[in-house]
Amino acid sequence: MSSLFGDTTTDQLVTRARGQYTPNYRQTPLFATHGEGVWLFDRSGSRYLDMTAGIAVNALGHAHPRLTRAVGEQAGRLMHASNLYFNEPALALMEELTRVSFGDRVFFTNSGAESNEAALKLARRYWSVVRERPERTGILAFHASFHGRTMATVTLTGQPKYHKGFEPMLPGIHYATFDDLESVKAALDEAGDTIGTILLEPVQCEGGLRVPTPGFLPALRALCDERDLLLAFDEVQTGVGRCGTWFAYEDEGVRPDIMSLAKGLGGGVPLGAMVTTEEVAEGFQPGSHASTFGGNPLATRAGLEVVRTIEEEGLLERASTVGAYLAEGLEQITRNHAERCVEVRGRGLLFGLELQTAEDDTLGKRVVAAGLERGLLLNAIQGKVLRFTPPLILERHHVDQVVDSLDAILGGV
Ligand code: PLP
Repeated sequence: MSSLFGDTTTDQLVTRARGQYTPNYRQTPLFATHGEGVWLFDRSGSRYLDMTAGIAVNALGHAHPRLTRAVGEQAGRLMHASNLYFNEPALALMEELTRVSFGDRVFFTNSGAESNEAALKLARRYWSVVRERPERTGILAFHASFHGRTMATVTLTGQPKYHKGFEPMLPGIHYATFDDLESVKAALDEAGDTIGTILLEPVQCEGGLRVPTPGFLPALRALCDERDLLLAFDEVQTGVGRCGTWFAYEDEGVRPDIMSLAKGLGGGVPLGAMVTTEEVAEGFQPGSHASTFGGNPLATRAGLEVVRTIEEEGLLERASTVGAYLAEGLEQITRNHAERCVEVRGRGLLFGLELQTAEDDTLGKRVVAAGLERGLLLNAIQGKVLRFTPPLILERHHVDQVVDSLDAILGGV
């Protein structure tokens, strides 16, 4: 495989790259060069079983022939024309998204943060312009959530470590405890009648992979209906098949009023979307919000192919069945290594295995490093929860490989 840097060693390139990036990332010294299905390759030709899928992005795996062909053809025809004009891939994808979701209207973005930013701006405009209740522009978010890194979305993110040094944060954002209805009611009461919208991940992802107790999301919906509040779901990580259904909200049949998407939607091409109902969409009027790149034909053609492929290749069912098999394997690992593992949480192909880090806070890091040595790409969130977000094309024999490797790794670290 040809390299932009000829025979320069990877160690040299790592040093050069570390001197070029702003120092906010902690990259593993791996130069990814190409991928195929569930496999990622590096400059030396080593291959890795990719259980991260670019942090839940490569839903169809790497270089899926259908996606590659669609993007290539579209790139040769039209990549961008702006929202001054319509384009066919955007229309086709919006029709798919509104067909498979609760939504009637779509706003395209380029990332998860921008989708949440759009959700937040729409909610505020809905209350101030459509409902003429400008005092209700407050948002209730949750502790331990993750919604992005823009100033608004990092404020929504209920993790003080991500706020540090960026203060002052956006006003009008309140927090409750996830999976705790009483805490929600208390936060609403404390804010007077200033909160118009509750925004949350239906499964908390980056904050530690927390699945709410059955009944919490339906109770939240009922509370929103009772108190006349909008319910917004951040499905940036859980959406587009990740949980074995198109969207995580389907699990308990709780329909939000606004939903944000990104990650898997473009299958690797930067693409996000904010989906909403006809009524709430009224909050946006010509000129009130926009994105130069949002919904360009290249990205939306990718999104269209992702959605069609998920449907035509039965990847929702695959995520459920292979996911259940992965869950069994991870449960077994947890039992085999009870001194190192706490529990497994998640569904579909979104799992967290919490490690026992009370006496050893380097365990997460060491497991990830040992995985790399064995050709297995893992990711640890909050330093202690191994997060599994593999491509939705994962097969049972890959799971066997992951479980065998983890068994050996946890026996050795
Ligand atoms: N929302 C959720 C639930 C996420 O997991 C993430 C990213 O991990 C984001 C929002 C932010 O997405 P992006 O990094 O594309 O802005």
